[in-house]
Amino acid sequence: MTARLACFDLDNTLIDRDGAFLAWARWWVDRSGLGADAVEWLVAHDNGGFTPRAQLFAGAREAFGVVTSVEELVAAYDREHPGFTWVEPAVLDGLASLSTAGWRVAVVTNGNVVQQSRKLEHTGIAGAVDYCCISEAAGVRKPDARIFAIAAEGAGATLADGWMVGDHPPYDIAGGINAKLSTIRIGDHHDVPTPIADHHLMSVVDAFPVILAS
Ligand SMILES: [Mg+2]
Repeated sequence: MTARLACFDLDNTLIDRDGAFLAWARWWVDRSGLGADAVEWLVAHDNGGFTPRAQLFAGAREAFGVVTSVEELVAAYDREHPGFTWVEPAVLDGLASLSTAGWRVAVVTNGNVVQQSRKLEHTGIAGAVDYCCISEAAGVRKPDARIFAIAAEGAGATLADGWMVGDHPPYDIAGGINAKLSTIRIGDHHDVPTPIADHHLMSVVDAFPVILAS
């Protein structure tokens, strides 16, 4: 029998990505000698990470007179921001409980390889799952069903009777539905509430027992 697959989004699902961005912003603003209003500006323009980083840093240069080039700022961010990410021990315990029960576990994340792989390594999530599928490397993004097929193959699992857990309805939940997975939406990070997931929970920690009971 082929193992079933549980897929998880990374940012604002397995990790508090917005919390990590705030921690990075405070550090970067302090190091750059900017005022506290720069932290507020960065958080306001970050858009949960969906504003392209080149656009974000071009705006920051304009607003605060930063002289470093956009290219250097983005490259430094990709190196430095992952160091501010963390994972709750209960999340690693939940991932381990799935593995113990015979599930294969994959991270399926839209993003660039440098940034996402550093976050996965820094938090220890990379070592706690069977496969990490990063869209830039896969050449396809959520909500395209093909990224889930790649994850299943990488994890050595079938998509049948599997799950997708994520915070972003148009990417994570739509993607899960496209791949014929059951879906769990985490939190209220996004204004667009559709498509509707099978379950809507406030913390990923509560998703593990739902999957284990299925
Ligand atoms: Mg997310």
